[in-house]
Amino acid sequence: MAHLFLAIAFIVSAALSAVAYFVLKTPYDPALLMLATLTGCISLVALCFSNVLDRQSKLRKQLELKNEQQRILLEHDSSALMLLDKYFNLELLNIHHASIAKFQNNSSSDNLLVNIWRDNVPEETRKLIRQTLSDKRTWRGELRFGDLHKDEYIAATITPILDDDGELSRIAICAEDISEHKAIVDRLFIREHYNVLTGLPNRHFALRALQSSIKDVESADHGFILIHIDLDRIRYINDSLGHQVVDKIFIETSERLRRSVHDDQILAHLGADEFLIILNTENCTNEAEILAETLLDRCREPFYINHHEVNISASLGLCKYPDDGADGAILMRRAEAAMFNAKEKGGDRFSFFEEGMSSETERRLEMENHLRHAIERDEFKLYYQPVIDLASNKLRGVEVLLRWQNVELNNPGPDQFIAVAEQSGLIVGIGKWVLEHACKQIVTWSQAGMPPLSVAVNISAKQFIDGDIVENVRYALLQSGLPASQLELEITEGLLINDTPEIRDTFAQLKALGIHLSLDDFGTGYASLSYLKRYPFDTLKIDRSFVHDIDKCNDSVTLTNAIIAMGHSFNMTVIAEGVENLHQRRILRERHCDMVQGFLYSPPLPADQFVAWAKRYAEMQISQHV
Ligand code: C2E
Ligand code: MG
Ligand code: MG
Repeated sequence: MAHLFLAIAFIVSAALSAVAYFVLKTPYDPALLMLATLTGCISLVALCFSNVLDRQSKLRKQLELKNEQQRILLEHDSSALMLLDKYFNLELLNIHHASIAKFQNNSSSDNLLVNIWRDNVPEETRKLIRQTLSDKRTWRGELRFGDLHKDEYIAATITPILDDDGELSRIAICAEDISEHKAIVDRLFIREHYNVLTGLPNRHFALRALQSSIKDVESADHGFILIHIDLDRIRYINDSLGHQVVDKIFIETSERLRRSVHDDQILAHLGADEFLIILNTENCTNEAEILAETLLDRCREPFYINHHEVNISASLGLCKYPDDGADGAILMRRAEAAMFNAKEKGGDRFSFFEEGMSSETERRLEMENHLRHAIERDEFKLYYQPVIDLASNKLRGVEVLLRWQNVELNNPGPDQFIAVAEQSGLIVGIGKWVLEHACKQIVTWSQAGMPPLSVAVNISAKQFIDGDIVENVRYALLQSGLPASQLELEITEGLLINDTPEIRDTFAQLKALGIHLSLDDFGTGYASLSYLKRYPFDTLKIDRSFVHDIDKCNDSVTLTNAIIAMGHSFNMTVIAEGVENLHQRRILRERHCDMVQGFLYSPPLPADQFVAWAKRYAEMQISQHV
């Protein structure tokens, strides 16, 4: 180019010098003329040339910038991009893109695509993609890569690029790494279908498995059995030892159950202390009974957790497909109903579902709904049962017993509704109401001229743990003006099953208020004698089941005798519950029992009737009729 410009400059300057010398007849030396014009031309040419070069360099820079920008854009695009010719040869690839780099390993960029295509895309998918492209349509889908250790996934869009004649000229591939997203989806799936604590399939999974078991056996001529397992007394352990211990029990239980079932049987952890087994076998009933016994044995084995030996048991409910229901959800409800039946019989056993059991479960739910509104609808009434001093025959106090007037539910007794109130947590509010009203009633009677009575209020373990019992007692005393020494809290042995510093501290705070503490239903629960030493009880109440046959059974006499002696050795006042006849009273008096209560004197009475009873009793005492 430069040569051409120089040649042109030389010719032009020669022509100009010739014109000046020969045509214009200038007197200058032709050589000088030639030199001057040549210099001018070369300068002119150099000027033009530098302009051209300048423009070219600018264009080149622009191009380079554009290339750089495109490169950056490609490398930082969220997708890996590839351009292939119509024979699938790679033309362009953003080779530095993270997801491409991931697959690169040892492959060079040239054979990278070939390798991915050959090694990772299944033959069927390859065929489908080819067909879609030859139909001149875009293929979109997910492709799975990876090795034994880790799965990688991409979402790919493969688009045919057509030339002016509508024929395939190139192929554009846009691939996005969705491995992370897939991993999250997988984790969500696991969370949705497995119990996080034990790793066992959860309720959701169990329900699906149940539906597919139903499908599987529809063609076969046998059914299957569902076993609902619920651990007994977990609430007490949770209340006293805390949920970490309970969690360990669940993990250990799941292991024990896992070892008890075959691989082809489904074991699920429905949540909290509930497990489920789908027993798919031809000889259902027989095998289920054997398995149920084994499972009960496994749950009875002691758990050793954080230096505690914890003993629990389980209640099992069994139902059969197709006899007890055709649908998974119904079967699960029925197995649960059968489990409740086993629990109501005392737990540590199994029950098969029978007609009428479901209604029990449903009744519990209905009861809970009614209980929620019982206080605001003024449905609770307090009844008072006299407690009599055996030596003097004097009325010493009352036990407050809650009554629920709910016509729709046929006025359920405390034996029915207290358990529901405890399970739902409603007992905390109900118990507070009982405490406040009972204290007020005693003060009202004192003000009306009755002799000062002690009042015993039943307290649930749940109130003790979840509710602020110390604060509630302090408030009830303050609000009513009842002297603390007249209030007694009745606590059942269940609360003490696992003795913790928190419970002991609450006991100490209650004692510091000046109230009395009474151990109710002694002999029925799990309390060991050591509790009597460890806790500051003032009173021990012998359960009415002992008193019931004290007049017929020597064994009961011996036991009652021992309990009274033991209570006294701990400086406790001993009260016998459920005294119904004079014979029972005589035996108790001979054994130096301190106080009694029971139908012999009076059943629990509403406040006004109790006042009338107390008047009559005082009159009878004066005339020595008692
Ligand atoms: P408990 O505290 O052991 O109450 C004594 C139960 O024995 C009462 O049953 C009473 O009516 C009954 N009873 C009294 N004397 C006799 C008798 O001579 N023979 C017979 N067969 N029974 C007698 P009730 O009122 O049905 O209460 C049952 C249980 O419900 C109570 O047992 C107590 O554990 C619970 N409960 C009652 N009221 C409350 C309350 O306000 N809060 C809490 N947490 N539990 C309560
Ligand atoms: Mg009681
Ligand atoms: Mg009792």
